[in-house]
Amino acid sequence: MKICVTVKQVPDPNLPMQVDPATHRLVRNPDQSILDPADEYGVETALRLVEEHGGEVVVISMGPPTAADALRRAMAMGADRAILITDEALAGSDARATARALAAVIRDEQPDLVICAIEATDAYTGMVPGMLAEFLDLPQLTFARQVAVEGQTITVHRDIEGATQVLQAQLPALLTVTASIAEPRYPSFKGVMAAKRKPIDERDLAALGLEAGTVGAAGAAERVLAVEEVREEKQGQMVTDDGAGSSVEAIVAFLERIQVV
Ligand SMILES: Cc1cc2nc3c(=O)[nH]c(=O)nc-3n(C[C@H](O)[C@H](O)[C@H](O)COP(=O)(O)OP(=O)(O)OC[C@H]3O[C@@H](n4cnc5c(N)ncnc54)[C@H](O)[C@@H]3O)c2cc1C
Repeated sequence: MKICVTVKQVPDPNLPMQVDPATHRLVRNPDQSILDPADEYGVETALRLVEEHGGEVVVISMGPPTAADALRRAMAMGADRAILITDEALAGSDARATARALAAVIRDEQPDLVICAIEATDAYTGMVPGMLAEFLDLPQLTFARQVAVEGQTITVHRDIEGATQVLQAQLPALLTVTASIAEPRYPSFKGVMAAKRKPIDERDLAALGLEAGTVGAAGAAERVLAVEEVREEKQGQMVTDDGAGSSVEAIVAFLERIQVV
């Protein structure tokens, strides 16, 4: 079976996130960007299905040229090849434009299964997979924590409030996976070396056959009006009384320190 996995390069979530106040876009430093950890679950799921049934895993990303690093990481995990959609005209894409660009490539690939994470770790809209399924006219099985394929039938388990749902669809289909689906493998040294030789096929807007006005900032149906920093609340100080009024002394000392009394 052929599986396409969408993967995004995101700023390292362990580092403080910065937003450009003029453009309202995330500041993306290539040296501090990584394969979205959420997408590693999609790559792992695809690798396990292909190990069981045969086939190939194609990882696809839309982003600046540096997003190739995220694709290499996915190939070091074991993906067979990669496609990078990159073009200046794609900058500023909203979720719909992102899905439109990804769909153009995936349509040509004609996979049996498309796998996405439920939401990206940076922009967090969670809208790309649903829009992608709509553009590709595929049934979508969301929030899967377990998946099995038998012939042309895909079965997933997903958790809802107080119960587990078991869903089935016919391939081709689109699947979104949660972090419970499988522990992503760590790339081996052999995998890292092999990934250097695996192909990354770069596509620009012309290759996708998309009009410039339908993607990028020009094609965005949403506008980010403002990005405001969350004000950090100062942590309170707890004073515990010993039952004999010891807290009074502590509170008075505190009020004196901040010059209230
Ligand atoms: C007006 C506007 C301008 C924006 N400009 C930018 C910008 O310049 N740069 C930017 O990064 N974001 C920009 N964004 C945010 C943009 O919506 C998202 O980066 C992008 O469209 C995907 O949305 P998300 O990250 O919320 O994806 P989600 O829907 O949360 O992602 C779910 C899954 O979809 C897949 N996916 C999502 N994005 C990609 C991708 N690019 N490549 C491959 N797979 C993907 C992944 O599997 C991901 O885990 C902008 C948003 C708006 C509204």
